[in-house]
Amino acid sequence: PHRSPTSTALRSEPEIVSVPLAEGRNYPIYIGADLLNSDSETLASHAKGNDVLIVSNTKIAPLYLARVESIFKSAGKNTYTCILPDGEEYKDLPTLNLIYDEALKNGLDRKCTFVALGGGVIGDMVGYAAASYQRGVDFIQVPTSVMAMVDSSVGGKTGVNHALGKNMIGAFHQPNCVFIDTNTLETLPDRELKSGISEIIKYGLIRDAPFFEWQEKNIPELLKRNPTIFAEAIKRSCENKAEVVAADEKEAGVRATLNLGHTFGHAVENGSGYGHWLHGEAVAIGTAMATDMSARMGWIDESLTARVQSILKLADLPTELPGDSPMTTEKFLSLMSVDKKVANGVLRLILLKGELGNCVFTSDFDDNAMKETIDLYVS
Ligand code: NAD
Ligand code: MG
Repeated sequence: PHRSPTSTALRSEPEIVSVPLAEGRNYPIYIGADLLNSDSETLASHAKGNDVLIVSNTKIAPLYLARVESIFKSAGKNTYTCILPDGEEYKDLPTLNLIYDEALKNGLDRKCTFVALGGGVIGDMVGYAAASYQRGVDFIQVPTSVMAMVDSSVGGKTGVNHALGKNMIGAFHQPNCVFIDTNTLETLPDRELKSGISEIIKYGLIRDAPFFEWQEKNIPELLKRNPTIFAEAIKRSCENKAEVVAADEKEAGVRATLNLGHTFGHAVENGSGYGHWLHGEAVAIGTAMATDMSARMGWIDESLTARVQSILKLADLPTELPGDSPMTTEKFLSLMSVDKKVANGVLRLILLKGELGNCVFTSDFDDNAMKETIDLYVS
């Protein structure tokens, strides 16, 4: 999947999104086509000590590990690798332990850097391993899935799942940098690609109307994996997420708007049985439901409902539950009520309100509208 080094003659500078952190610190997200070949020095410069532990999985390592390892080797680093099994079911403590094993076996000290090479699962696990190894070491993210590039690389949430709950063990830990080569998307499975696009659409709907309009024109190019158009979509997504995350410190609740479609989506995900829907697919159905409910209450114009339906279909994302789905409205409601956004027994939802690009996070909605929406979708 890698271009020959001669393609660097055609390279453009990477886009850089700076993510603000507390105390005036920040970290860069580098985004561009072919960066692993054209900007390798930039990546290596973010590893401070001599030792680098690159963590990937059995699917991604054969594709990109040799390239990433050679970048750090060329910069004079001692490199070590750890290859985990692939899949959300391995985002757990026993598998996490394999990272510590490798680090300790090689005597890595607190000045080492962990590199996460993979999707959101690898990013979350390696981030947490870095947060906890010897009370915290540096880490770098090299995300290879759309989901990891537009969502999990910003915000500092890291962690693993517990048998009793997703992402229940974790920490906030910020990377030294995020390094996104959009050419790595060439090998991402179709469904995973589209699932990640669902989170891109979310940013337009909740706060960035011009970005939504841009997507209405450019989604066909995203589906073709056009690396330059993808770099633009990722940049604008990361900027949006970084702004929301930064604003949340002052304005409690804004970060929740990133979960548009997620409360309905979690019920879709959990109600359909493990592995039926990818996360972004469930979020797409959830977004369609939140939009339908908003329109029922008269909060948005029907023309916006039509645009949401159209953009999800343009991205080839699902907007309905399968006809044979064994779901009932009662079951759906009970699945929604266990959502973690239920605070003090009050369900709060992210709903669209007003012009494109505006939403609210509220418990002040019409229960009947919610039931009507669910009735429509489960039937
Ligand atoms: P994933 O990491 O499981 O990747 C999806 C699949 O695609 C995997 O099989 C993976 O090996 C494969 N893959 C990834 N990149 C590839 C490539 N370039 N070529 C070929 N195959 C490739 O899943 P994901 O959707 O990337 O991430 C989901 C995870 O991210 C979840 O665990 C979720 O909790 C987490 N997440 C975290 C945050 C956060 O803020 N920390 C935000 C969103 C999601
Ligand atoms: Mg999500």
